[in-house]
Amino acid sequence: METPEVSRRRGTRRRGGAWCAGLVALAAGVVLAAGCGGADSVREPQARHLLLITVDTLRADRLGCYGGREGVSPAIDRLAHEGTLFDEAYTPLSLTLPSMTTLFTSKYPEETGILRNHFKLEDSEETLAERLAALGLRTSAFVTNPVLRAHDAEVPGPRIDQGFADYEWFADDVSMAEAAQAHMETAFGKEGRAFTWVHFVEPHQPYEPAAPYDALFTPADYVGEWDGSTEALNRVFSEQVDLGPDDLEQVLGIYDGTVRLVDDLVRGLVDALDARGLAEDTLVVFAADHGEDLYDHHRYFYHSKSVYRSSARIPLVFRQPGTVQAGARRDDLVVGVDLLPTLVGHAGGDPTQCAPGNTPRGLDLGATLRSSESVRRSHIVTTWRDSIHVLRTSRWSFVHNPEGVIPLDPPLDPHYVIGKQELYDLAVDPNEQVDVAAEHPEIVAQMRTLLEAWRAGMRAGAAPEALQDPRLAEMLDQLGY
Ligand SMILES: [Zn+2]
Repeated sequence: METPEVSRRRGTRRRGGAWCAGLVALAAGVVLAAGCGGADSVREPQARHLLLITVDTLRADRLGCYGGREGVSPAIDRLAHEGTLFDEAYTPLSLTLPSMTTLFTSKYPEETGILRNHFKLEDSEETLAERLAALGLRTSAFVTNPVLRAHDAEVPGPRIDQGFADYEWFADDVSMAEAAQAHMETAFGKEGRAFTWVHFVEPHQPYEPAAPYDALFTPADYVGEWDGSTEALNRVFSEQVDLGPDDLEQVLGIYDGTVRLVDDLVRGLVDALDARGLAEDTLVVFAADHGEDLYDHHRYFYHSKSVYRSSARIPLVFRQPGTVQAGARRDDLVVGVDLLPTLVGHAGGDPTQCAPGNTPRGLDLGATLRSSESVRRSHIVTTWRDSIHVLRTSRWSFVHNPEGVIPLDPPLDPHYVIGKQELYDLAVDPNEQVDVAAEHPEIVAQMRTLLEAWRAGMRAGAAPEALQDPRLAEMLDQLGY
């Protein structure tokens, strides 16, 4: 469950230790990486400040910059225009906490054990916030999804607040954005360093934005019964309702209106930053925790059952004028584990210098952001918990579900049937609608071998991307690499 609560509850956690250590490091004129501090870890910071904006349940292809309708996301589109957009970015698991812990640990959910919401991140995990704090950045978080609440004695949390000096949860996005903006007025300046994470819960279900957002993109003459309430959308799935084109357009219009609401709040944060002359000093990262199935598969509106591109693909944009390439659009395969090494490297740390057991699984995308160097990765793997795996190359996606597991996240109706193996040709079928496994047994066999090698690498603790098996290299050649 990750339904937002109605009541408002705020909690603030302050952890002075890491920030004080960072101050000491700054005072000494030395940039230290967490867990070590050796000379090898000294790098030139590429940005004074980092602003990470994540949006819950934001499906990439609803945004204008990803091919969505005009007017849904003008502020996010502008960020993409002024920065670098990744067209093929994925979360390893389409659920809030597993996704965000992946971003913050550079480990896959199977490694951290965070396969569902309400699981607890171990203290031994060295998080992005902890690493940035050790580099001297003031770390702050503003979140609205209750799944991401700070841990305290009253309400145990998932411990994703590790490393944040300030961590505040709000019951609505508007209040949260106002508080985040006020905080950035003091934390972001021409002196000092700051990392702020802002997480919007909208457009998470129910899709029920306030006026005027509720009617911005809906058909003017709609007379049907469907809306964006959780009750209605669950009924479509439970009763396997055939929606007409107008019904679907109505629901999608409400969803898009909710996206526009968040876009206006994102505009406020970025404009405030730019108006103070801090654009060049600040790396802005825009992403989602996961996407959303919007009636694409099994008449389902949600994400927690899905293994498909509709929910696994996320928007990912980096902007820093003068440092990050402007107007660049990349089709490299990137995944949530890449965020930590990229941000730590950009902030002046060495991502590989860390406490034992915390070596990043992901890749530092810094060279790609600054000089268009290609990301060295041929395939990625996403999962549903640890029982269904999907291996993707730029051409194919292969679903491996050997036990025939039916995801039974709420609602519990068993309609989301996933084959034991499915294959989709993304070149002609990017929304994964037509299973062509039976027509391409040789591709299926190759994808299975790649997946087995990836999983063996995971079990062995090796970075899957770094596997150097010549048989795999030959197979990748055959697949077009
Ligand atoms: Zn989420």
